[in-house]
Amino acid sequence: MGFYGYYRQPTVAEIRSQAEKTIRNAKKKGMIWEPVIIDGKKIATSWWGDAWCKNLERYADYGNRLERGRKYVRACAVVDLQISEGKVNSKVIGSSTKPYEIEININPLSKEKIRPIIKKCSGKLANAEALIAGKFPDELKELFIEKGGLFPTPKEIDFDCSCPDWADMCKHVAASLYGVGARLDKNPVLFFTLRGIDISEFIDAALANRVETMLENADSKSSRIMDKNEIDGLFGVL
Ligand SMILES: [Zn+2]
Repeated sequence: MGFYGYYRQPTVAEIRSQAEKTIRNAKKKGMIWEPVIIDGKKIATSWWGDAWCKNLERYADYGNRLERGRKYVRACAVVDLQISEGKVNSKVIGSSTKPYEIEININPLSKEKIRPIIKKCSGKLANAEALIAGKFPDELKELFIEKGGLFPTPKEIDFDCSCPDWADMCKHVAASLYGVGARLDKNPVLFFTLRGIDISEFIDAALANRVETMLENADSKSSRIMDKNEIDGLFGVL
């Protein structure tokens, strides 16, 4: 019999202890895993991480899987999660000692979709440093949240899990999707990796905006050239 028994959902404590055991064993074998660790009650604390998690509610059909996914990710069941271009690979604790393997594929954003977003960005993003330092400035909020923004729609994602659940989205997939939210919370630049966006284009747009603002300020404040008398006056020659 599995450690959970057959007819009840595992408790958070049971999932957690199994997860810890699994991670320890992997380490002993020299495998490098990146578990999703949730500190505190919230899966994500930044607006972008939180918005990612809220976006998952678009999968309303999988309501109870989403709920179980949240429980699993909070219990540290996502023992490994790797984000690469257009892809998430994860391992999630299940009812056997071996974690289930999950693969999530997300369509990369097409150039046609990215171009207007970058254009919009160049008028808004005043702070390239924040982006480089791994913080999404508030100016980008709208780009993520509005329709046609940077978050993938359900149609743009497909997933697969090695567990026997009949539902397309099992709790392991749901836990992994929330795990992505937690990972992006700490490292938002991974979002660009995931969607196949070249981050330097965003930074260029931000810099272009800064130069434009500087030129505008220069125009309005200091474009008048001083004549000799004024300069002399400044230095107290007159
Ligand atoms: Zn599964």
